[in-house]
Amino acid sequence: MTARLIDGKAIAARLREHVASRVAALGFSPGLAVVQVGDDPASSVYVRTKDRAAQQAGLRASSLRLPAGTTQRDLLATIETLNRDDGVDGILVQLPLPSGLSPHAVIEAIDPAKDVDGFHPLNVGLLTEGRPILAPCTPRGVMHLLDTMNVPISGARAIVVGRSSIVGRPMASLLLAADATVTIAHSRTRDLAAECRRADIVVAAVGRPGMITGDWIKPGATVIDVGINRLADGRLTGDVDFESCAAVAGAITPVPGGVGPMTVACLLENTVTAAIRRRG
Ligand code: NDP
Repeated sequence: MTARLIDGKAIAARLREHVASRVAALGFSPGLAVVQVGDDPASSVYVRTKDRAAQQAGLRASSLRLPAGTTQRDLLATIETLNRDDGVDGILVQLPLPSGLSPHAVIEAIDPAKDVDGFHPLNVGLLTEGRPILAPCTPRGVMHLLDTMNVPISGARAIVVGRSSIVGRPMASLLLAADATVTIAHSRTRDLAAECRRADIVVAAVGRPGMITGDWIKPGATVIDVGINRLADGRLTGDVDFESCAAVAGAITPVPGGVGPMTVACLLENTVTAAIRRRG
């Protein structure tokens, strides 16, 4: 391996310590409410992880678990109650929701000032305009990794593979706001390998194990693997074939231990940002 390893676990731990020290200096404890509908096991793990991390950082975390049969009306009423609760600075509704509930309606019901996931159309619009306030946590985490590793972004060619609202699109907007020249690739992109080979920064957010291989990577490029895929044997792996890409890249994230830990750390950061803005 010739690439520098981007240790997301260590970088996230430092960011969480930084958030904790900001919270300690605030004189109040920002409140984060995490809403889960139903009992999907993966969602339950994510909610517990967020809850624990928030408490460790000195936030007041509360998780609300609503039954799987919750109606759209009841869920919207819960969000309205949290919107009005002055002690709640951040609201996060764990996705995916059970079928029959509209994620769009739910996200649009959240007060944009408390939208710590950064999914509300107002926050998406601000990000698209290049003046993000609450940006989605995973792409924000990627930017933090690039900054920490001193990867030059301004003027660099970046490719984001994947165009979801949660990762790909906001990732491209953040890179563009940082003055990269950005290509967004997706399932209809022609000759994806050639597109990737031109890039100084490759961000993979696809959900296909090992899709991006070393022969797609320009020597010295930075490779960020957002993908989290569970293999048949239970192991987690990314969208990047780590061995072949690490032999060519200048820097690379592992999976697990790369982007994943940054997402929760950036959620804490967004909650502190929301609290400070709301309370002046
Ligand atoms: P989505 O399924 O919503 O989006 C996947 C994207 O990949 C789509 O835009 C799709 O294109 C594109 N795509 C699919 N196949 C190909 C292909 N063969 N070539 C090029 N592009 C392709 O996934 P998410 O964005 O939600 O997640 C992506 C990955 O990131 C997943 O592995 C997920 O688990 C992981 N993830 C990790 C997080 C973390 O904290 N590290 C947080 C969130 C997600 P099209 O639009 O044309 O269909």
